[in-house]
Amino acid sequence: MITVEGLHHKFGDNEILKDINFEQEKGTVTAIIGPSGSGKTTLLRSLNMLETPYKGVIELGDTLFNIENFNKNDVAKLRKQSAMVFQQYNLFKNRTILENITEGLIYGQGMSKKEANGKGMEYLDKVSLKDKANAYPVQLSGGQQQRVGIVRALSIEPEVLLLDEPTSALDPESVQGVLNIIQEIASEGRTMVIVTHEIQFAKEVSDQVIFMDNGEIIESGSPEDVIDNPSSERTRKFLSRLT
Ligand code: ATP
Repeated sequence: MITVEGLHHKFGDNEILKDINFEQEKGTVTAIIGPSGSGKTTLLRSLNMLETPYKGVIELGDTLFNIENFNKNDVAKLRKQSAMVFQQYNLFKNRTILENITEGLIYGQGMSKKEANGKGMEYLDKVSLKDKANAYPVQLSGGQQQRVGIVRALSIEPEVLLLDEPTSALDPESVQGVLNIIQEIASEGRTMVIVTHEIQFAKEVSDQVIFMDNGEIIESGSPEDVIDNPSSERTRKFLSRLT
């Protein structure tokens, strides 16, 4: 479902991703954990070409993407397979909550306005925000905005949902509500890759945990293996600092 082979990325002379390799089955959740600056976000953004690595192969859904040999159509195809949930929600400030969801359905997917509105309301209902349909993002709390960000991404029915530290901009009271929604989506059998600092949540929600440090995958495996019984000293050190 997702295969990454030999992925490398640089910012200037700094090698940020160094030979990243991993696989993920359809319908499963991968959590990427690791210290600040280890390359987690860069890896996630590379999966749909929000960053452009210089070498490697990414297979996502039915799209095989070779970085050294691609064209614009390949990028468009790869992006159609995935949707990103951002740390800072990235809602359109001058659009209502409902419009934030329906824009992609109308202009990206060619849906009629009526159909898109119907679908948008269904998704807002899923996160208990139907009553905010005509409000603007600024009128919602961070947690509410992130719930919109999540259903906006889901509404295009991507093969893969990519979540970049979805709770780290939230106040502590809002975190659990957002985590519950992600947990619910995971239990529906969605394929997700989540960059997170919430280690307990990573353990509960994921099928696979990847621990990154300094641009490399140091270890990966089941949450029980990586979080409870890490084989690498670097993973142990990282986890012990968090407790
Ligand atoms: P955090 O947990 O703090 O979000 P991260 O593990 O997600 O960190 P990245 O955001 O992927 O790490 O950053 C990896 C490295 O790349 C860092 O050293 C960062 O400073 C650098 N970096 C990220 N984006 C850019 C950029 N646009 N230009 C230059 N360097 C960058």
